[in-house]
Amino acid sequence: MSIATNLTHLHERIAIATRRAGRDPASVRLVAVSKTKPAEAVEEAARAGQRLFGENYVQEFIAKAQEVREPVEWHFIGALQSNKVRQIAGLVTLIHSVDRLSLAQEIERQWAKLNAICDILIQVNIAGEATKSGTTAEELLTLIREVALLPHLRVRGLMTMPPFFDDPEGARPYFRELKRLVGIVAAESIPGVSMDELSMGMSGDFEAAIEEGATLVRIGTSLFGEREYHR
Ligand SMILES: *Cc1c(COP(=O)(O)O)cnc(C)c1O
Repeated sequence: MSIATNLTHLHERIAIATRRAGRDPASVRLVAVSKTKPAEAVEEAARAGQRLFGENYVQEFIAKAQEVREPVEWHFIGALQSNKVRQIAGLVTLIHSVDRLSLAQEIERQWAKLNAICDILIQVNIAGEATKSGTTAEELLTLIREVALLPHLRVRGLMTMPPFFDDPEGARPYFRELKRLVGIVAAESIPGVSMDELSMGMSGDFEAAIEEGATLVRIGTSLFGEREYHR
């Protein structure tokens, strides 16, 4: 199947899930996860109407962003080392994966140099899995209060990656929990912090995520096909 066909199919599924949840289809944005895929795949998706792409690896992203000729917007969604932040400064419109103060401080430094503001999401590791990034639910408010003091950062919401389940319903409690955490943070009315973005849901479970309130679904495999290699 072509990327264009996959994209059409995904938009249909997103529309059905939003309708089922009584939500406006425009309230959910598709982040096309292009990690390990060549620039040509991004361009093909862009020509089919996709504008927003998510990348995980700094080196790969930089190379690809230089190659892509179509007008696209990039989000950074992967684990991010502080010493690589400089390379993506100004190239991404949202970082989904901020999970510690030291990383936020480096983003602050780099975006300050550009005299620009970086929108970020705080990644929460709800299951507490050792192999995944993310702050704990317990530390979330403390981290957000600290990040909120950085003038070149704007916290826009939360992101999570639940444990892997064969059954998409397995992820639902984690999505629900992220939505609950968004409510808790929003209730604090912290200056510089808005909680209007929920980044959750991937190829296997995005419909459940939409039903639970996702505004950004990060989809790779269902759009571009299986990745050639796993990382
Ligand atoms: C790879 C990746 C995705 C996309 O996963 P698929 O199952 O291929 O849709 C989403 N989010 C993050 C953080 C990823 O690393």
